[in-house]
Amino acid sequence: VVNRAASSRGPVRAPRGGERTAKSWGAEAAKRMLMNNLDPEVAEHPEDLVVYGGTGRAARSWEAYDAIVRTLDELEPDETLLVQSGKPVGVFRTHEWAPRVLIANANLVGDWATRPEFRRLEQLGLTMYGQMTAGSWIYIGTQGILQGTYETFAAVARSLGRDSLAGTLTLTAGAGGMGGAQPLAVTLNGGAVLIVDVDASRLERRVAHGYLDEYTDDLDAALARVVAARTAGEALSVGLVGNAAEVFPELLRRRHAGAAPIDIVTDQTSAHDPLAYLPIGVSVAAWKDAAASDPEDFTARARASMAAHVAAMVGFQDAGAAVFDYGNSIRREAELGGYDRAFAFPGFVPAYIRPLFAEGRGPFRWVALSGDPDDIAKTDRAVAELFPDDAALRRWLEKAGETVHFEGLPARICWLGYKERHLAGLRFNEMIASGELAGPIVIGRDHLDAGSVASPYRETEAMADGSDAIADWPLLNALLNTASGASWVSIHHGGGVGIGRSIHAGQVVVADGTALAAQKLERVLTNDPGTGVMRHVDAGYERAREVARERGLTVPMLRD
Ligand code: NAD
Repeated sequence: VVNRAASSRGPVRAPRGGERTAKSWGAEAAKRMLMNNLDPEVAEHPEDLVVYGGTGRAARSWEAYDAIVRTLDELEPDETLLVQSGKPVGVFRTHEWAPRVLIANANLVGDWATRPEFRRLEQLGLTMYGQMTAGSWIYIGTQGILQGTYETFAAVARSLGRDSLAGTLTLTAGAGGMGGAQPLAVTLNGGAVLIVDVDASRLERRVAHGYLDEYTDDLDAALARVVAARTAGEALSVGLVGNAAEVFPELLRRRHAGAAPIDIVTDQTSAHDPLAYLPIGVSVAAWKDAAASDPEDFTARARASMAAHVAAMVGFQDAGAAVFDYGNSIRREAELGGYDRAFAFPGFVPAYIRPLFAEGRGPFRWVALSGDPDDIAKTDRAVAELFPDDAALRRWLEKAGETVHFEGLPARICWLGYKERHLAGLRFNEMIASGELAGPIVIGRDHLDAGSVASPYRETEAMADGSDAIADWPLLNALLNTASGASWVSIHHGGGVGIGRSIHAGQVVVADGTALAAQKLERVLTNDPGTGVMRHVDAGYERAREVARERGLTVPMLRD
């Protein structure tokens, strides 16, 4: 279904500049961001409409893509387009404050929310996997995850009693759209890292984009390079072409023999979808056909390989390394593959991120529709000036400005909290109104955020009150963003950790320099992170209670 029209069209690239063809900036922005998601610089497999994260798609088919683009160009400023799993299904008269687009991706009724049923429906052309920001049109390339990954590794360093990762060696796998941020995140923290990927082209792409220093298919050579860097206290990232299910156990053997001093171990292969994880014994060239011809057998083999992969990770933990799951559900898949100690190591959210979520902090991102990198340089400076006391934020913005290679439209990410994000949004809007910036700015976020996701193997793992699987919270988040003036809002199922394992919501709001945009920005960018504080107050986190009290969030049943 997806491929039918792919061969007859050239690469997709969003229009640039301050002139629009749609009738509102809300619709124009949605159109440009959909296109930007499919820009070959941004998407992992644009010809299949796959943006990142295994099979995370931006539209259900090329016909659906064309219909969305056409509809957005014709959409009145008081109309709303509904998108059902990547297909445009209706246009309704609403009002100017309403979102221009409402999106629901991959949602299934509980008992039917299984991977085989999803695949069956997908093959019938009835649904689409939207991951988190693929089907909600706010993916910004690997940078999108870079800062969160940088923050996570900084927290790992702190947990080891260190100021940085200098003198440590990290082992990980998966150099895809998201996982590809890991090597740069480690080297920005001063460490050495070995990253394993079965697909040499992924490692090559990370080198080309400046996320990885070098790669090889020679394990001995790769190990020698990173061990030397660890000893010298130097930052270095080396990619290794290989299957993690084979390489991790081999490195564990070498560690036991004293030849692989690995301090930190994690993984970001696409384990959430066993068809996107390559089992031992299958070549990259045979992957697609093997997965398509017998998905059940492929799944069983992938799970068996994940069991070996995770058993090695647990072995590293037993040997004293810091080991954590990086949000891809590999522990559950390894358990399904027959390995019963898979949950011996924690997920990264309870281990490192939850204290940030309790303050409503999360991945605030913005994109310059002008296409002008100067707009990002100017907004970087504006954000640094807005938060002069936040040294880590300023350090990040400086490093990002120096090292991040833009993919598609110029964009930036930084983590900001409740009663912070709207200040940035309003400042950007002023800069557009005054002509300082060359065009509107799109402001959104990952669905991985403080109040927008229910995902018991990741964002809501081990909540203090046991509410891990309660999915009312992301639905309330989406409803509130819709009521607050967001430009597009989405509700997805299965992102990050796979079908049946998460429900999450996204919002994007456009700054176009108008007074109406300022009002919407103020509300959306206050209320959206506010739901994160609310959710963590409700779950009993003391820091969230303090933040609610100090920053004036009304929680009816919060008592002193
Ligand atoms: P991707 O599909 O773009 O990349 C996955 C990579 O894993 C590919 O390069 C593939 O070649 C490699 N791979 C597959 N099997 C392998 C094996 N056996 N050994 C070595 N390499 C193998 O996916 P992505 O966007 O990079 O996401 C990776 C995972 O991380 C997904 O499960 C995703 O849901 C999850 N994720 C986590 C976070 C987070 O914040 N922690 C955020 C987004 C996504």
